[in-house]
Amino acid sequence: MKKERSRIETKLIHTGEPLPRYGGAVVLPIFQTSTYEFEAETDYHDIKYMRLNNSPNHKALHAKLAALENAEAALVAASGMAAISTTLLTVLNSGEHFLAQNSLYGGTFGLINHDLPNYDITHDVIDVSDPSSWGAALKPNTKAIYVETITNPTLRVGDLEAVVAFAKDHGLVSIIDNTFASPVNFRPAEWGFDLSLHSCSKYLNGHSDIVAGAVIGRAELLEHITHRLNRLGGCLDVHACFLLHRGVKTLALRVARQNENAMAVAEFLEGHPAVSKVNYPGLASHPDAQRAAKLLDGFGGMLSFELAGVDNPAAAGKIIARLELPVVAPSLGGLESLVTVPAMTSHRGLTPEERAKAGIAEGLVRLSVGVEAKEDLIEDLRQALEG
Ligand code: PLP
Repeated sequence: MKKERSRIETKLIHTGEPLPRYGGAVVLPIFQTSTYEFEAETDYHDIKYMRLNNSPNHKALHAKLAALENAEAALVAASGMAAISTTLLTVLNSGEHFLAQNSLYGGTFGLINHDLPNYDITHDVIDVSDPSSWGAALKPNTKAIYVETITNPTLRVGDLEAVVAFAKDHGLVSIIDNTFASPVNFRPAEWGFDLSLHSCSKYLNGHSDIVAGAVIGRAELLEHITHRLNRLGGCLDVHACFLLHRGVKTLALRVARQNENAMAVAEFLEGHPAVSKVNYPGLASHPDAQRAAKLLDGFGGMLSFELAGVDNPAAAGKIIARLELPVVAPSLGGLESLVTVPAMTSHRGLTPEERAKAGIAEGLVRLSVGVEAKEDLIEDLRQALEG
C-alpha cells in the first residue's frame, strides 16, 4: 500500500487531503472566509487570513503540489506570472544579476526586460544547449539561472542536467519553468533544481477556466517566497484554489492522453506534404530528441509546425481557420485542443528579426493537443491542410 501511495496517480487523489476530513466531507469544501478566529499566533505569517496563503484550501494544494514533484514545499499564487515575478523578486536583490535562457515565455521575457531592470536586477541570455558558453556570461553578482523545461513555441529541451551542475558549481539558485512538461513528464527536484515554477492555468488545472500559478521546491526558499507573496499580495483566491484542486486530480489521466495524442498528431504532420517542419521532442527528427528521451517521462501535448510555402502569419492564420476542432486561441494545456500562430499572439511583441533569431518562423503554427480522439484531430488537420 505504501508503495502505491508513492505513485503520482495516487498522490494526485490522496496527498494533502486533510485528515480528519472537515465534517466528513470527501471533497475539501471552499473555505469562503477571509479571516479566522485569532489563536494567539506569534508570527505574522501564521495568522490565518486569506492573503497569507494559509487557508485549508491553500494548505491542501501546497502539500499536494510539493508531493507531485517529490519536492519539499510548494506555494500557489494568483497567476503563473505572480509565481514567476515573486520568485525572481525574492531570489534576486537589487544590484544582482542572473542568467536566462533564450526564447522564454513572452510574459517572462517582458518581466525581465522591462520591469526587473527598474530594480537594478539584470540578466544575460544564454544558449541552454551550449554549456561551454555559460561561463563567459557569469559576473561576480550572478545569483541565479533561469530556464524552461520545454521552450515555447519551438519545443527545445536544453541541457538541464548541465544547468543544475553549473548552478551548484557557481552557487546559483537554479529555477525552471516546468509548465509545458507538468509534473507527470518532468519533476525538477528529482534532477536537483532548487525551484520549479508553473502556470497552473495550463496543465495543472487543465480545464482552461482559471488563472493560477505555483512555486515548488526547497523549503527554505519557499518560506522566503511565501513571505514575499504575503506582502506583495498575489494570493490565489480560495474559489480558484478549489477549482485547481479539483482539476489537478485528473492530471495524470489527461497528460497521458495528451502525450499519446500529440505524438500521433506529430507523426501525421511530419508525413504530410503540406507540412515542411514539425517541432515535437518525441520525434526522432527533433534536435533534442535524445536529451528529451533521457529527461522526460513523456513528450507533452505541445507541438508546432511550419506549412510548406507559407511564410507569413496571415496565410498561416487562414489555414488554421479551416480547423473545426481546435479553437484558435492562445494558452494551452486544457482538455480542448487550441491552435495559434505565435507571430500573431504570444510572440507578437518581437520584431520579425527577433523571431527569426529565436527560430520562430513567421508562419509557424502552435498546437496545444487536447484529449479528443486522436483520429478525429488527425482527420480535422488533414481536411484543413488539403482544403
Ligand atoms: N510560463 C509559461 C511557460 C506560460 O506559457 C505562461 C502562460 O502562457 C506563463 C508562464 C504565465 O502564466 P499565467 O498566464 O498563468 O500568468
